[in-house]
Amino acid sequence: MTSLPISFEFFPPKTPEGVDKLAAVRQQLYPLKPEYCSVTYGAGGSTQDGTIQTVRAILAEGFDAAPHFSCIGASKASVREQLAQFKADGIKRIVALRGDLPSGYGGFGEFKYASELVAFIREATGDHFHIEVGAYPEMHPQARNPQADLKAYVTKVMAGADVAITQYFFNTDAYFRFVEDAEKAGARIPVVPGIMPITNASQLIRFSDACGAEVPRWIRTRLEGFGDDKASIQAFGLDVVTDLCDQLRAGGVPGLHFYTMNQATTVKALCERLGLTA
Ligand code: FAD
Repeated sequence: MTSLPISFEFFPPKTPEGVDKLAAVRQQLYPLKPEYCSVTYGAGGSTQDGTIQTVRAILAEGFDAAPHFSCIGASKASVREQLAQFKADGIKRIVALRGDLPSGYGGFGEFKYASELVAFIREATGDHFHIEVGAYPEMHPQARNPQADLKAYVTKVMAGADVAITQYFFNTDAYFRFVEDAEKAGARIPVVPGIMPITNASQLIRFSDACGAEVPRWIRTRLEGFGDDKASIQAFGLDVVTDLCDQLRAGGVPGLHFYTMNQATTVKALCERLGLTA
């Protein structure tokens, strides 16, 4: 029996083959009974059609789905229009983000921070949407310092967020400290850890450097030591991430959000190891 709510994150495929492949991945993951699936969104317009199409497909397959929705570069009128479209599509859940502008993209639009988007969604649509926001236990990479980042997070929660999903991390102390500090500062919403499976060492290091997630030295050195031995990397990665999830579960997390990278095998194996099979 699944004893902990789980959710899966996908990115919108760019090709018809990718669409078919993701549809097959979803069918492999649905038996794990996710609470919902979320679909990422390209700030500045790169993947927005793909996001809504993927969300529609998931809803049509009988599962709850949440588009990620970023406000950077957007106008209030365009956000209002998009929210109306989400409502018309039967969407009830949004992952509300600021986003990052692609390099060379012109203006910042009418929203500076995710907290402004959350406030705007509440003002425009009341309680229609269940709003998830991002959280950064190891600090958002552009924040001035952890205290300023925590203050910004609390503002975002107070603006009307229901749940937070974290950037991935491999250090549970950072997560539990963040949750404690946020609660002390008045932000008392569930903080669901984002879980990144380890399957590809160079990709993990690249992503982590870009998003400010720390890959502890002992994990980096072990991964480097495996060289091109993919099977050993995957076996090691499965052990490490299973232990991480076990520690989180023992500490009472409200759920687990898996960054699937549009792959089923590792996430399925992880859920099986954790006994999270429906
Ligand atoms: P914010 O909460 O607005 O924070 C951004 C920065 O501004 C932080 O440094 C914060 O400290 C600072 N800040 C906020 N408010 C204030 C204030 N009032 N005064 C001063 N400083 C302030 N990106 C995508 O493009 N597409 C996606 O689909 C996507 N999905 C994501 C899913 C999750 C779960 C997470 C955690 C991140 C995701 N991202 C995605 C990345 C995200 O868009 C970037 O991390 C982005 O830089 C910040 O977005 P945010 O919503 O956390 O921003």
